[in-house]
Amino acid sequence: MYDVIIIGSGPAGLTAALYTSRAELKTLILAGPTPGGQLVNTTDVENYPGFPEGIMGPDLMDKMTKQGVRFGAELKHETVTAVDFSKRPFTITTDRAQYSGKTVIIASGADAKWLGLPSEQRLRGRGVSACATCDGFFFKGKDVAVIGGGDSAMEEATFLTKFATKVTIIHRRDEFRASKIMLKRAKENPKIEFVTNAAIEEVLGQDKVEGLRVKDLVSGAERELALQGLFLAIGHKPNTDIYGGQLEIDELGYIKIGEYSKTSVEGVFTSGDVNDHRYRQAVTAAGMGCMAAMDAEKWLSEKE
Ligand code: NAP
Repeated sequence: MYDVIIIGSGPAGLTAALYTSRAELKTLILAGPTPGGQLVNTTDVENYPGFPEGIMGPDLMDKMTKQGVRFGAELKHETVTAVDFSKRPFTITTDRAQYSGKTVIIASGADAKWLGLPSEQRLRGRGVSACATCDGFFFKGKDVAVIGGGDSAMEEATFLTKFATKVTIIHRRDEFRASKIMLKRAKENPKIEFVTNAAIEEVLGQDKVEGLRVKDLVSGAERELALQGLFLAIGHKPNTDIYGGQLEIDELGYIKIGEYSKTSVEGVFTSGDVNDHRYRQAVTAAGMGCMAAMDAEKWLSEKE
């Protein structure tokens, strides 16, 4: 029987584990399919406080993992396949075993959506990114494209104009899901160009992005655009499938937060990108992990 079972091992889960184990709560971290979370797939992280020279994403997560288990939290490389939040203690089933926990902290994160092109996957971290806030800085004086027609695409394109010489928004329709104001802001920015009714067929370049092969979805004609960066802004998918029917989930698939870090089930707390489509930063996820841990600890001490 664990006091706290943490689902996920990104900044939120590992920070939660650091706090609960340091408060002498018996803690289990179930690392999930991507131990370390989304940061293990990034390169330089320059906006995590405490690292004035920046740090590589995998190195940061290695340090967070060591600190997360330093005070006795157990970390198992297992993936949660089912949860039972209908009665306490809660039951968590993984691909290998079953565990009981008095409380659960959900920190299973979200994944950026990708187009799924082999060339896109090959060049991830080499000019292809799904996070302008994280990687925009590396594109000073370069030409980049942003894919998508929602608020994220407009926001990321506008942000990227701080660094890039030119930003091309490529969207598959000629109508936009983005709010009027964000679209207007992007349209009025002289550094932003729009290519609509278009799909990316291939990301060009061997070791780094050199361009895109784009297809006009009306005429069928293909052309090549020379540029050095590609930013995906086609949405994120929170990892909430396993909680279906057990917790309140919002219309976008994110876990609904009640008071503090509480979910709709008493004793189950949430933190990080799984409940946050707004900030999605390592530092905000870590902060939310701390909040969930403190809330779980307080809840347990009140119950016991
Ligand atoms: P979104 O609104 O779902 O937009 C995703 C965009 O990507 C859509 O334009 C969609 O095209 C396109 N897309 C999806 N799959 C694609 C594919 N396979 N190939 C090409 N294009 C594809 O996602 P989001 O922009 O990340 O926004 C998510 C939520 O967060 C929204 O509620 C948004 O308002 C909110 N948000 C708010 C702010 C803000 O207020 N500051 C900033 C960012 C996000 P279609 O339109 O053709 O489907």
